[in-house]
Amino acid sequence: MNNVFIGLGSNLDEPLSQLNKAIERLKQLKTLTFIKASNFYSSPPMGPQDQPDYINAVVEVKTNLMAEQLLDELQKIENDQGRIRTQHWGARTLDLDILLFGKDVINSERLIVPHCGISERNFVLYPLSDLLDSNFKIPGLGGINDLLADCPMTGLIRLTEA
Ligand code: ATP
Ligand code: MG
Ligand code: MG
Repeated sequence: MNNVFIGLGSNLDEPLSQLNKAIERLKQLKTLTFIKASNFYSSPPMGPQDQPDYINAVVEVKTNLMAEQLLDELQKIENDQGRIRTQHWGARTLDLDILLFGKDVINSERLIVPHCGISERNFVLYPLSDLLDSNFKIPGLGGINDLLADCPMTGLIRLTEA
């Protein structure tokens, strides 16, 4: 079994409901075990600025699936929740990204893991850190506390207290 961390983001069609709905879907999947969810956060958009703010969270699951099989499941959930890919980093009902997949480092055509945004994106790093021990090391990137120290919380608002 691999411990996997999945980043969730939404800024369309009731983002909070989109995240809760996606979490319910993940909980229902027989191929994975849901462990826990981070706090929810709000963040300003990355890339095109003419779009609403985002709601973000990270969840931890355990699974025997291969990474690309998990990506298939996540893309099904994105599609079922109305994800339409038009503009790069444009507004979306739901984004599900594989942030960490056990200790694996993956560089395939479909997957880059650890996810490329972990160290620079505060809306990924802070919710992820809610779920990690302070001495956790991310493959290829280093300790979570060192990453947090280099990633200001600018614009990020924590909405819940888990
Ligand atoms: P970003 O990956 O910079 O956060 P995005 O999430 O908006 O951008 P998507 O449109 O959701 O990008 O996905 C584009 C492609 O990214 C997917 O088809 C998938 O093959 C690829 N991809 C690469 N690495 C990952 C990963 N770790 N998790 C999810 N998708 C990934
Ligand atoms: Mg993304
Ligand atoms: Mg994505």
